[in-house]
Amino acid sequence: MGTAASSFVNPAELEGVGPQLTAKARSRRARQRRGILAMIGGSYVIDAGVLLLFAQAGTIPATVGPAYAACGLVLVALFLIISELGINDRFADHYLVAPQATACMLTALAFTWIAPEVGAMFLCTLFIVFSFSSLRSTPRQTMVIWTAMTIGLAGLFLLTDKPISMPHGNYLERFGTMLVLVLSIGRCMFLGIFSSSMKHSLYQSGLKLKEAYKRIEELAELDELTGSYNRRCIMRMLDEEIARAARSGAPCSIALIDLDWFKRINDAFGHPTGDEVLRTFAITMFANIRANDRFGRYGGEEFLLVLPDMDTSGAVRALDRLRAIISDLDWSAFSPGMKVTISGGVATLKQNETPDTFLARADSALYAAKARGRNRITHA
Ligand code: GH3
Ligand code: MG
Ligand code: MG
Repeated sequence: MGTAASSFVNPAELEGVGPQLTAKARSRRARQRRGILAMIGGSYVIDAGVLLLFAQAGTIPATVGPAYAACGLVLVALFLIISELGINDRFADHYLVAPQATACMLTALAFTWIAPEVGAMFLCTLFIVFSFSSLRSTPRQTMVIWTAMTIGLAGLFLLTDKPISMPHGNYLERFGTMLVLVLSIGRCMFLGIFSSSMKHSLYQSGLKLKEAYKRIEELAELDELTGSYNRRCIMRMLDEEIARAARSGAPCSIALIDLDWFKRINDAFGHPTGDEVLRTFAITMFANIRANDRFGRYGGEEFLLVLPDMDTSGAVRALDRLRAIISDLDWSAFSPGMKVTISGGVATLKQNETPDTFLARADSALYAAKARGRNRITHA
């Protein structure tokens, strides 16, 4: 049941219709339709069995049951052929619920006319048809099918004098009628359960989709190696903080941080160890900055730290603390004799300053820190 329901609302639905459907999605849809058609075929066979019972009771000729089953199975076969030819995929509703419901409804009305002695049984199947079609039809489609059915029923009840009955003349007939009710209500109930498990599966797919989108968003914002924000993201954050500071009048500082002699680290210990150093540096930074600070990879071994609500002296103090933490780390755990230090250039936002000039000032400060011997913080 759960499997059938989940296949009825598979996320492949979201892949749209037409040529953009992948072969895999097409075959999955065809498999789902086969399942639904098997259920419809099964339903006709059940009804044919009850009709045979009524034939046994002498209510109707013995041919009605097989004829009804044949009609139903021919319809199912027809829709199966259409489905296997892939014609269904051309339509938004690839189950073709509206045509199928209409065909089943016409069959039920025709057989009510042919065998009115057991007419109530065919009319009961209309409830099943509607329970089923309303699972997938649009309100407009449902209204169209309902109107067609109303016309059909009006023709049958008002334009003919067929004695449409619910047979109960003898024990077998009473048993048959009871079966009709039990089986019809059972099938409606089955569809109700089917529908709720469908909703549940849709809800689950929605949750999974949401999680996937969140993950994609995160991946699009993060630098793969260090887990810090990537350049695009940190630049956007810088723009946002500049705008926020301009609005509120609060100070905003930035620091461009560069690892010292990093080329030598790569050369001496190998590129993979260099990567590990970058990762450890980033983790250490994250562990020692405030929650509202923004830290991202500006490029290579150069990082940008955005410090909202911080003036120059605060930013220089914070950066110097970070510098000391990095240089005091026991880097020899990576390789004996390894030392890692950073240099930083701090700048504080001036009035009406653009991100470019703001960054250029931080870059000049960084250049000065390097020129003065590295492992130090300088401000613009
Ligand atoms: P300085 O103190 O002047 O900054 O010297 P430096 O050696 O750090 O500067 P330079 O710009 O000459 O070298 C930076 C090196 O960083 C070169 C490059 O191979 C290395 N690098 C950049 N990105 C990565 C990375 O993702 N992983 C590793 N392992 N190395 C990287
Ligand atoms: Mg460097
Ligand atoms: Mg550099």
